[in-house]
Amino acid sequence: MLNIVIFGAPGSGKGTQSAKLVEEYHLKHLSTGDILREEIKAGTELGKLADSYMSKGHLVPDGLVIDILDSLIGKHANAKGFIFDGFPRTLAQGEALSKMLEKHGEDIDVVLSLEVDEEELIDRLLKRGQISGRKDDNRETIESRLKVYHTQTEPLKDFYRRRGILKNIEGIGSIDEIFNSIEKEIDRIEK
Ligand code: ADP
Repeated sequence: MLNIVIFGAPGSGKGTQSAKLVEEYHLKHLSTGDILREEIKAGTELGKLADSYMSKGHLVPDGLVIDILDSLIGKHANAKGFIFDGFPRTLAQGEALSKMLEKHGEDIDVVLSLEVDEEELIDRLLKRGQISGRKDDNRETIESRLKVYHTQTEPLKDFYRRRGILKNIEGIGSIDEIFNSIEKEIDRIEK
């Protein structure tokens, strides 16, 4: 299996680059944000609960997202590999992911961290809000999501750096340029 974590702040391009990775490497894409938005759309109890956190720019509780991921990893045990997009977002989720993969004799091969400065992030998210109408893409919620990213999610970089699997990717440039840098990192681990 080839297991990739695509990491970065809100607006760093995780979803965009994940779509290209799926096309190129035929991996199973697991985006916790997409999964939670599906639940909200379907009006499930889980969706309602998730929405109460997401609309404020807060994280959904670890236990909920960890359970969702655990069952999806089990369900797709025959995949060529996974792209984890938007997960893990806390140290507890990072530890849980390692344990979940271990159960299947698997590990994370690489953590690709998309590096984009704050000003550009805010700009992109505000633009996305106008086009997609994603209701967490408004100025107030964006601020809260960036704060949450710095305090709760960014510490994972050290966690993965210490394991030697963190790779920083310049996240500014054309979509294809960024994907080229990603491919180079993946080719390196595939050899
Ligand atoms: P972005 O990274 O652009 O903010 P996502 O779609 O990844 O977009 O996440 C949107 C929201 O979904 C987050 O602000 C959070 O409320 C919730 N969410 C997504 N993934 C997780 C996760 N792993 N843990 C907790 N909450 C999550």
